[in-house]
Amino acid sequence: MSSDLVIVYHRQPYEEVEEDGKIVFKENKSPNGIVPTLKSFFGKVDDAAWVAWKEAEDTSNPGFERVIQIEDSFGKYTVSRLPLTKAQVSSFYHVTSKEAFWPILHGFKEKYNYDPVDWPTFKEVNWAFAEAAAAEAAQGAAVWVHDYNLWLVPGYLRQMRADVRISFYHHTPFPAADMFNVLPWRGEIVDSLLACDVVGFHIPRYAANFVSVVRSLRDVGNVPREKVDPDFISDGSALSDRTVPTAIHTEDRVVRLGTTPVGVDTDYIAEVAARPETDVRRDEVLAAMANRRLILSVGRTDYTKGGAEQLLTFERLLERNPELASQTKLLHISVSANRNMTAYAEIQSEIEQIAGRINGRFATFDRTPVSLISNAIPFEELVAYYRAADVAWITPLADGMNLVCKEFAAARTDGDGVLILSEFAGAAMEMSSAVLTNPYSNKSMLHAIEMALAMPEAERRDRMAELRRVVEKHNTRAWARDQLALLSPKDFGKDASK
Ligand code: UDP
Repeated sequence: MSSDLVIVYHRQPYEEVEEDGKIVFKENKSPNGIVPTLKSFFGKVDDAAWVAWKEAEDTSNPGFERVIQIEDSFGKYTVSRLPLTKAQVSSFYHVTSKEAFWPILHGFKEKYNYDPVDWPTFKEVNWAFAEAAAAEAAQGAAVWVHDYNLWLVPGYLRQMRADVRISFYHHTPFPAADMFNVLPWRGEIVDSLLACDVVGFHIPRYAANFVSVVRSLRDVGNVPREKVDPDFISDGSALSDRTVPTAIHTEDRVVRLGTTPVGVDTDYIAEVAARPETDVRRDEVLAAMANRRLILSVGRTDYTKGGAEQLLTFERLLERNPELASQTKLLHISVSANRNMTAYAEIQSEIEQIAGRINGRFATFDRTPVSLISNAIPFEELVAYYRAADVAWITPLADGMNLVCKEFAAARTDGDGVLILSEFAGAAMEMSSAVLTNPYSNKSMLHAIEMALAMPEAERRDRMAELRRVVEKHNTRAWARDQLALLSPKDFGKDASK
């Protein structure tokens, strides 16, 4: 019981690598993953801790140090590593989280595929995370829990420790009641979230959806609302809201709703963009393009990311404008994260099939219209592609935020480049100067890509300047500042007295 801030997130805050037969902890250099974003708090709090899982053969005798002290560029902190077996991880993470929660969070009821036999393991693992957090939290500490994999932790933790302040942040969308309530355990999940002091979301619409879910299950009376920051209103877009709910009053407490979009580390991206080796790689890419225009798509291979829809639009584009087959190239980076899960294997083979068909139909000996890459590209190299692209085409069918589009704008220190963005990405709220499109409509997608390719330079630069302004305004530092303000004891006190 020693830390004033306890972060509970399933991944460890470093990479564990073997060097000369010894395990060493390496700082995770990815600039925009959740881990470094969360670690940006450690420098600001004297006693901070992190609770994560670590795979172990035998959880009763884990054979590794369960609690370790870490010091890196972010600060000093304690890491509690919860031993979980392969079977527990597979059940709680790959089955319950990815096959039941993920499709519902993103609005894909038809992908919901779940055997309730896995539910007890989900509860057991969440209980273990709550116990580890309770063991680490000092009296009155702030415990900050992350993502739907740990939905039941707040409720369990509240039973163990009435004194701690609990905040829960959703890194995904949060769906409305008609979608969320497909989950058979909707009541348990909502009760757990209502045991928090703060529940956090990326954008106002997700907070409003949460209120719709709570209202469908509980009697919560009036919900106060305030006006939305103008940077969160994309006129005519599918996810815009003009007001945002700020709190839910239950019998036990005031649950504050925090709406702060996750951003990217704009300073780091500008630094990578300015490196000579980034220029060298960009120039190599441009030379290989031989005056063709580069359309870039980057994402994980996931049915939510809209990769197949994009390729079908590109095929239609070439049917309508055959000359574009030799004047453009679509670089489709679609990284397979979970090759052994059926839903992801299916979408991977669909993407390969369509890309192969397009190339079969439109390629010549020296010009291939689609290049498909399925292996992850190191972030530093990705920045060179961002800087080489004429158009970044980021059109998920659903996405909590989407960081790739923000990275693209942050990397374009030259002020050029067009962003086409799905209006169903949380980022569309701030990035209304992108060419917003509806990825479910082939016509809207075609219009967007044709408009992007034809856009005059002056308009490209005006739009990019505005995109860069909002990405800088809502960067990781801003997110950390706003979240820390929500977590501070003073602020909790103020709210409770309202
Ligand atoms: N990314 C990467 N290499 C790749 C493809 C993606 O480093 O080849 C990174 C990308 O820079 C971004 C992250 O993966 O930081 C994807 O985040 P996003 O929020 O867009 O999507 P998620 O996969 O979290 O749903």
